[in-house]
Amino acid sequence: MNYNKKTVYDADVKGKKVLLRCDFNVPQNKETGEITSDKRIVAAIPTIKYLLEQGAAVIACSHLGKPKGEWKTKLTLAPVAKRLSQLLGQDVIFAADIIGEDAQAKAAALQPGQIMLLENLRFDIREEKNGADFAKALADMADIFVSDAFGTVHRAHASTAGVAAYLPAYSGLLVDKELSIMGKALDDPKRPFVAVLGGAKVSDKINVINNLLEKADTIIIGGGMAYTFKKAQGYEIGNSLLEADRIDYAKDMIAKAEAKGVKFLLPVDNFCASEFSADAEPVLCEGDIPAELMGMDIGPKTVELFANAVKGAGTIVWNGPMGVFEFDRFAAGTKAMAQALAESGAITIVGGGDSAAAVEKLGYADKITHISTGGGASLEFLEGKELPGVACLLDK
Ligand code: AMP
Repeated sequence: MNYNKKTVYDADVKGKKVLLRCDFNVPQNKETGEITSDKRIVAAIPTIKYLLEQGAAVIACSHLGKPKGEWKTKLTLAPVAKRLSQLLGQDVIFAADIIGEDAQAKAAALQPGQIMLLENLRFDIREEKNGADFAKALADMADIFVSDAFGTVHRAHASTAGVAAYLPAYSGLLVDKELSIMGKALDDPKRPFVAVLGGAKVSDKINVINNLLEKADTIIIGGGMAYTFKKAQGYEIGNSLLEADRIDYAKDMIAKAEAKGVKFLLPVDNFCASEFSADAEPVLCEGDIPAELMGMDIGPKTVELFANAVKGAGTIVWNGPMGVFEFDRFAAGTKAMAQALAESGAITIVGGGDSAAAVEKLGYADKITHISTGGGASLEFLEGKELPGVACLLDK
């Protein structure tokens, strides 16, 4: 997959209308609709400001929540328009529809230096279905398309990929950062290249492991998914998470890693519990886990093993927590890994979703080179899959 895509800096946007796909899918208070974190709106500001300063007229668009083609008043983007206007210090014209009369009239009248926001794209079912007529109607309002919503580039939706059939398509600054940092890490990593994988399920990460086995020097597996691998090695794992139908796969991967000379590290000790609960008493188990216990976090010897393996790395990618970090008693392993990454001196990349949340919750976010903003998208990136919202952008 080619990650070397033209960016807004390569586009001549002066006097042009730019359709800008943003990620304004912000968390909201379910009762009041109040935006509980404006991080994603703040993140969008650099690309928007750049475009406005260059004399473009910006037609911003985004989805919010999962209205599934229904017009759900609670999921209007109106509060986002208001917050965006406060952050930009200028008026944000809000359209009452997406490609309807109001949007079309406002887009036609939009002047250089002005910005408008369309209503929630997913109020129209054709957005997620990538309806050609819907994509064309979006594109017809503009001269150029800029993609800056990394969290949706793994989806072939009208506003993420469809519009690129009708408009020259560039990456925004957020998408460009994701592509240049993660793309380089995968294509031409500074070595040794260490991948740290965790989280609940092996089945979610099979394609990631397959892809990284071809590229990484060391693969570290922690979290719930490690127990299927331990079982494959012949250990007793008690009540720990197990995907019995993946044991053969796990055996194959261990053998493949050995054949390729890729170091493949698994936990050697675990903090276990008799029940899946925040109050459960942690019991340290080395090797086998007794029948009545389940593995909840990696133990101190494993922390040492894993931390030593990331020391001296050139590049580290991390996706998935090392244990049930949401429970304080079982967060130590994840915290230790976050610290090990922060202190490694390597280029460190944390995939979105739970690992990003863990790094932020544990206070290491500012010591990581790059925290990806897209959970599903960064996972598919690590799988080496072609991302429709990236493939459609102009090559450099
Ligand atoms: P994922 O979305 O696949 O990255 O998985 C993240 C989830 O895995 C988090 O909610 C963790 O609580 C969970 N997890 C990590 N380790 C374990 C474990 N040992 N047992 C059960 N769940 C785990």
